[in-house]
Amino acid sequence: MEFPTNIPNWIDGEACPALGGETLPKLAPADGTELCRVARSRVADVRQAVEAAKRAQPGWADVPPVKRGMILHDVTLGLKARREEMARVVARETGKSYANALAETDGAIALGIFYASEGQRLYGRTTTSATPNKSAMTVREPLGVAGLIIAANTPIANVAWKVYPALVCGNAAVLKAAEDTPATAYLFGEIARDAGLPAGVLNIVQGYGLEAGAPLVADRDVAVVSFTGSTGVGRQIAVVCAERLARVSLELGGKNPFVVCDDADLDNAAQWAVLSAFSNAGQRCAAGSRFLVFDAVYDAFREKFVERTKGLKVGPNDEDDFGPVINERQLNNMVGTVERAKGNGARVLVGGGRLTDEAHRGGFYMAPTIVENAGPDDDITTKELFGPVASLYRVRDFADALAQANDSEYGLTACIHTRSLHRALEFTRRVQAGVAVVNAGTFGSEPHMPFGGVKQSGNGSREPGTEALDIYANLKDVYISIDPAQA
Ligand code: NAD
Repeated sequence: MEFPTNIPNWIDGEACPALGGETLPKLAPADGTELCRVARSRVADVRQAVEAAKRAQPGWADVPPVKRGMILHDVTLGLKARREEMARVVARETGKSYANALAETDGAIALGIFYASEGQRLYGRTTTSATPNKSAMTVREPLGVAGLIIAANTPIANVAWKVYPALVCGNAAVLKAAEDTPATAYLFGEIARDAGLPAGVLNIVQGYGLEAGAPLVADRDVAVVSFTGSTGVGRQIAVVCAERLARVSLELGGKNPFVVCDDADLDNAAQWAVLSAFSNAGQRCAAGSRFLVFDAVYDAFREKFVERTKGLKVGPNDEDDFGPVINERQLNNMVGTVERAKGNGARVLVGGGRLTDEAHRGGFYMAPTIVENAGPDDDITTKELFGPVASLYRVRDFADALAQANDSEYGLTACIHTRSLHRALEFTRRVQAGVAVVNAGTFGSEPHMPFGGVKQSGNGSREPGTEALDIYANLKDVYISIDPAQA
């Protein structure tokens, strides 16, 4: 598809504008120009989408799980057939390079293949009973309508992470696309329809969080809410879901520590530091942002990290290392936080602000930034920035590194660079995080692995992997008693 100038909702298999006729602007992060207008949905649009999902869900639940999986496999084949087109859309609306967008699309396809096959499993348990002639088992059944709300950072991966597990379990879904990446979700809706997904099984509403996301969370016909986004919004969603006892999965922010020990391979560490801090313009929940470096190698590591960072190319093309951030609000927030840190005594080693030269004019480009000497309570140390900004901290030894790694309200991912098996294993055991990595980056999850955080990074749920089935399916206990005399 040519990049659409108008992006409608998908409700009941039909593309439709917002009921009020309103639209919102979507800007191209690469140059700040208006890319398209997007349906600005409100409560009535959300209600219509939930109603469509509610009507379609019983029929979808009656489709045998194996067949549901085969239909989702067809959707995945549709995505694969149009992967270049999808990658172009992802690249355009995020500003990331086509090569990175294509890799992300392939990640979504891998997840689709894994989850489509889950239709052939959806395992329950058979187990024992204390009572003679009684058998006991658990079966998985759908919950009803799933409300799915996603962030914009890796848009097609985010769509896939939620839509596939929700649908394979027999739920119908209403997906609230991120307002910064409407076209990716729209194109996925078209692919799903063309692949034969029945109308109403996947509905997509566009719009702002408060206007279209909040009504979805509050809707009493939505049995499960799955949210990927910031901790602040996640907390509000948790309150609303608690009040109406809806199931909720929260995949939230991070302020992830990256530890470099005195026995680390410093070149490998510096390479992974650059990728953890700056790939995807730092817009990863799993980005590394707090670099905790042993005193003994601090200067040597800093030099390598800064040197590599100075060589990074920022722009929207395949030869660039990373692109713009998603919008001007996020950009201004990170620039302001760096400025405040400087005011409090932090030193900027590289970058530090918006790129405004001819090549970057109008775009939302943040220079890759490394600071040091930030205080433990500075915003740059404690708050997630979701951009290409890294802070360096000196630590005395392993115990100090671990203490500082855990000194955060977040607990999503963490990594350590060391040649010591003892340090590596002790770190993976003691670090407060949902993901612990040795000698690589803070990011890099796989479709069959359960991802998620502790503390303020989530509510304990895990997506994807087979663990996501526990979010989107109800476990029903089934007991059957027989009378052998009647056999
Ligand atoms: P955000 O919380 O502002 O928005 C995320 C989504 O929620 C958007 O679709 C938005 O429209 C919607 N939303 C906003 N307010 C809402 C409300 N009151 N009710 C319902 N929906 C609402 O987040 P963002 O800044 O767009 O995304 C970045 C955040 O997402 C970061 O904190 C990042 O760490 C997190 N994230 C987490 C994961 C993970 O798996 N843990 C993955 C990617 C991103």
